Amino acid sequence: MKKLVVRVSSLLLVVAAGIAIYGYQQVATLTPERVTDDVWVLFGMGGNVGVLRTERGSLIVDTMTFRMQGERIREEAERLTGREASVVLNTHYHSDHTHGNPGFPAGTRVVSTTRTRALLDALDASYWSGAAAETLPNETFDTTHEIRLGGKTVRVSYLGRGHTSGDLVALFVEDRVLHLGDLLFNHRYPNIDLEAGGSIEQWIGTLDRVLAMDGYDRVIPGHGAVTDREGVRQFQSFLREVWEQVSGAVREDKDLEETLRSVQLTQDAGYEAIAVPLVLRLDRDFVVKRAWQEATGTVVPSGPAAQHGEGQQ
Ligand SMILES: [Zn+2]
Repeated sequence: MKKLVVRVSSLLLVVAAGIAIYGYQQVATLTPERVTDDVWVLFGMGGNVGVLRTERGSLIVDTMTFRMQGERIREEAERLTGREASVVLNTHYHSDHTHGNPGFPAGTRVVSTTRTRALLDALDASYWSGAAAETLPNETFDTTHEIRLGGKTVRVSYLGRGHTSGDLVALFVEDRVLHLGDLLFNHRYPNIDLEAGGSIEQWIGTLDRVLAMDGYDRVIPGHGAVTDREGVRQFQSFLREVWEQVSGAVREDKDLEETLRSVQLTQDAGYEAIAVPLVLRLDRDFVVKRAWQEATGTVVPSGPAAQHGEGQQ
């Protein structure tokens, strides 16, 4: 019996070690893909990272989920571009786009919207205490801002609510690439952070403004493969379909269960669900539920006092 217990527990140990190694590899692995001569995207565990090479250093959009990933992103960007990473952008406040920031040197230039900085302070303060605070966004803007670095121009804009109430979009002007952060989930079910002022209804209009912008051919989404304007249109048509059907069901006084049963979506053909173990599962029911909550006003934003009212662009 004792022998069996020892054998079982050592087997468990091997399994646990296997899981730990697998987890470490998942976190440590970055897969680069070249988008233009000077732009790469890094895929890994967390939001897609954009890398822009300039003559005076590289600019990094988002830093994934763990400090160690931030370090790996910095090394990989230096390997790809032959330049030090000198500017970081955070598209929004979520941990899978910001928690790698502390992997960059204290005092690194970090750009976000004013709203994203406020959301980090209000909703994620425990992570950003101590040394991590040295890599919080330290250059913020409300509507538009331009970064000029080593012969390149990056135009960042806040175009309205959607995934959260603070998402920026970043245009790499010379390379004609637009990084949309989580305003675009490419062929994946999106998260809608109603608690942080996100809105499916407003998201549709925000993407109208993205589509009205000139000057880009390729689009980097927050999650999923690199795409183009057509990918933005496709995702917008999914959001529109969800919103029309769910707000219609709510006007007919359908409760959540009836709404979940009544919607018939077609625009999500081929969409993948995203599972964050023990935290949330992003699938069709999740999106319908969030739309129902928004349409019935059953979620009250818990972020910092809303500066962004309903009509906010
Ligand atoms: Zn996000």
